[in-house]
Amino acid sequence: MIEVLSIRDMRRWRAARQQDGQRVGLVPTMGALHEGHLRLVDRARDRADAVVVSVFVNPTQFGPGEDFDRYPRDRARDRDLAEGRGVACLFAPETDEMYPRPTAVQLAPGTLGAHLCGPHRPGHFSGVMLVVLKLFNIVQPDVAVFGRKDAQQALILRRMTDDLNLPIAIDVAPTVREPDGLALSSRNAYLSAPDRRAAAVIPRALDVGHRAFAAGTTDAGTVLHAVRASLAREPGLDVEYVDVVDPDSVEPVSHVTAEAILAVAVRVGATRLIDNIPVGEGLAADDLLAD
Ligand code: AMP
Repeated sequence: MIEVLSIRDMRRWRAARQQDGQRVGLVPTMGALHEGHLRLVDRARDRADAVVVSVFVNPTQFGPGEDFDRYPRDRARDRDLAEGRGVACLFAPETDEMYPRPTAVQLAPGTLGAHLCGPHRPGHFSGVMLVVLKLFNIVQPDVAVFGRKDAQQALILRRMTDDLNLPIAIDVAPTVREPDGLALSSRNAYLSAPDRRAAAVIPRALDVGHRAFAAGTTDAGTVLHAVRASLAREPGLDVEYVDVVDPDSVEPVSHVTAEAILAVAVRVGATRLIDNIPVGEGLAADDLLAD
């Protein structure tokens, strides 16, 4: 595995892969790699000859008072994990390399950012779109892999790719979970032991929503009420939103279908966690324990 810090070297590496006729896959991350990221790498390896993982804690997607400064950074560990998973190139630019001056041009998700995390994190998706478009232009991947864990982000990036005619296939991978169902996240490292126990209610509450739907409830209000009641049983949680949205438009639905996305954002102590499932997919015990 080669580690690349500059845009110039990244472009050189990419050009050499072009010469070799190799397909390149890209997995953009903010580092503090975990098994969720590494599954994206596996999918990229299945779809390309050489995989690039970018590690960049992107300042433009963090709001004032968010956790940019304390976001976990461990390059040596990331390097070992990426290499062990067959990554060909780790692209880890410094902030100045990606943003030598403030960016004048702005991107915006439009109506796709009107619900879920959009209103709670002003400017977040603009920052994500900006950095991913820059990474796409620098790495020029044939395929890029994102996680369904950040479903709204994946939808926005898929739509950006389509709307802007980028010649890149977008692949979205299922969420990797702990045995108790908690979605893996770099931010789980912030959780104290009691917070970690409290956070386990999040997947259980999503599953309550799924089971209400599976039992025949298609009224969104009823499903959401069941999910909120389940979350409320854990006093350590502060619920930011619970919503069920259309998987294409990210608009709230009143009539629930199996493909609708049931999404939550909660604060556990100072840590903000998000999770979602397609309402039709439950987290049965077998699934929770599957690898
Ligand atoms: P991040 O480093 O948190 O920005 O995430 C980088 C990529 O990994 C994004 O596409 C995320 O959706 C994806 N990802 C994060 N956590 C998980 C997970 N538990 N399962 C699958 N993908 C994930």
